[in-house]
Amino acid sequence: MQSVKMGIHSIYLATEGEGIHIGRPQIFVRFQGCDIGCRNCDSKETWAFKGAKRPLESILLEIHNIGLKGKIKHLSITGGDPLNEVHLPGLQALLIELKKQGYYINIEAAGTKVVEEVFQLVDFISFDFKTPSTGVSTHPELILKMQQDFPGKFQVKAVVESEEDFTATHKAYLQLKERLGDISFDWCLTPSFNPREDFPMERFIMVIECNQKFGGPFKVIGQQHKWIYGSNAKNK
Ligand code: SF4
Repeated sequence: MQSVKMGIHSIYLATEGEGIHIGRPQIFVRFQGCDIGCRNCDSKETWAFKGAKRPLESILLEIHNIGLKGKIKHLSITGGDPLNEVHLPGLQALLIELKKQGYYINIEAAGTKVVEEVFQLVDFISFDFKTPSTGVSTHPELILKMQQDFPGKFQVKAVVESEEDFTATHKAYLQLKERLGDISFDWCLTPSFNPREDFPMERFIMVIECNQKFGGPFKVIGQQHKWIYGSNAKNK
């Protein structure tokens, strides 16, 4: 086993609260450090590249213990931005060892780049399409590349705050549909549920009705962990 260290914010057991894996208990491995700067990020405590780096062996042991000593073998790599270049050597070593131990691995990708050498090592990629309200953007060419290189192995997720976000996402969907002929991957819309907000019923209805109006190109899936634990709860 390689001797590498990496910046980890937390490792915890929770039930996936969004996207197409919603409802599945899994181990979350949250990397510490992200320089992307989405305006509506709900994990700003993971932005700083700080704290002691942890050795691979201790991370693997904690994953095993948190996963009820190997009973839970589904795992999600998230952040922060696990695909930041600073994290890549540690991340790749971790993925190789986790695959040897039989884990099913999802990685949360920020939608700013396709990292072939990482995506080849995982079972599934949740690839963000960044909407205008995030202040960041995802070039549709990246989603085209995902479909070319990783068909059947990814979903696209977009956080929708406003009708402007829906319109931008729908425009990208139509552009890609024209290029690909059809969209065969799941594209999920997540109505945003921001820290300190009450449940955003009106926003949720707006997203559902916009999606229906355009023939239902997307799956609208909210963040169920926030309905249960509140929008400020961490590691849930
Ligand atoms: S990529 Fe993720 S962690 Fe980084 S700012 Fe955006 S939402 Fe937050």
